[in-house]
Amino acid sequence: MKLYILPKDYPEIDFSKMKIYLLEGSPETLASMSDQSSIDSKKYLEKLGVTVITNARVQNYDGNMVTFENMQPIGSRLVIWAAGIKGNIPAGIDPSLIVRGNRVKTDRYNKVIGSENVYAIGDVAYMETPKYVHGHPQVASVSIQQGSTLAKNFINAFKNKPLKEFEYFDKGSMATVGRNLAVVDIPKPKLHFKGFFAWIIWMTLHLMLILGVKNRLFVFLNWLYNYFTHDQSLRLLFRDFYKPKSYDAGVKKAS
Ligand SMILES: Cc1cc2nc3c(=O)[nH]c(=O)nc-3n(C[C@H](O)[C@H](O)[C@H](O)COP(=O)(O)OP(=O)(O)OC[C@H]3O[C@@H](n4cnc5c(N)ncnc54)[C@H](O)[C@@H]3O)c2cc1C
Repeated sequence: MKLYILPKDYPEIDFSKMKIYLLEGSPETLASMSDQSSIDSKKYLEKLGVTVITNARVQNYDGNMVTFENMQPIGSRLVIWAAGIKGNIPAGIDPSLIVRGNRVKTDRYNKVIGSENVYAIGDVAYMETPKYVHGHPQVASVSIQQGSTLAKNFINAFKNKPLKEFEYFDKGSMATVGRNLAVVDIPKPKLHFKGFFAWIIWMTLHLMLILGVKNRLFVFLNWLYNYFTHDQSLRLLFRDFYKPKSYDAGVKKAS
């Protein structure tokens, strides 16, 4: 955006003066992925002109200054906050079962601990297993798999069959950092891809996950358009359009 889109939309602004910081509270970027993915993603961001600062725990922002617990403040008029999401727990759940991120403790069958028939799946569920001692990652595949296991368990319970404990099957994780830049981790067999190849894998998989051939085709065409034009088809006009008188005169003269 800094290199191609913003200079087109705001030709009057000198974007060489624009600085982009990525402030990460933990010691590395993409901490939930492999060490190699963390290293590569940081390298890619820096290649794109982003100043990456890790171990930077933001304390406050007053509209002008970002202050930290452990480092010098940084002046900025714009902060994009992307530090996680929080569950929305309905009233009536025992507060002692609510853990970090507003997640509710469940057993291995996604039943809220101590309840008779209250279940929680996905992001809002906090389930400890030998493999995931601090709960599962808040990603879509965990939610989908928990939903599927719980549905099967309901059928099993109805048929008086034994219930199956939830076990997350990690198919791998990937993240895109920018154009032609992505990282992919596959747990079994242990593989790591990066760069253009990983980016193609990311694009292909996300394209396949889109429902409907028509939607898939339109997203693909949109991506192609963006890739070759370095532009986006959406423009938000938030200033009144002013057409100078000289414009019409100029058009007449030209024709
Ligand atoms: C910006 C962003 C990017 C992400 N990217 C990825 C990614 O690339 N890959 C990946 O695997 N995961 C990604 N995730 C995580 C993924 O979206 C979640 O893990 C997944 O959506 C969790 O599914 P869920 O069904 O548990 O919750 P949600 O999808 O959040 O669904 C919960 C629903 O409950 C509704 N709701 C909330 N409160 C109430 C209420 N009181 N009454 C009724 N309805 C209510 C909400 O409106 C919402 O629709 C991303 C998340 C974010 C925020």
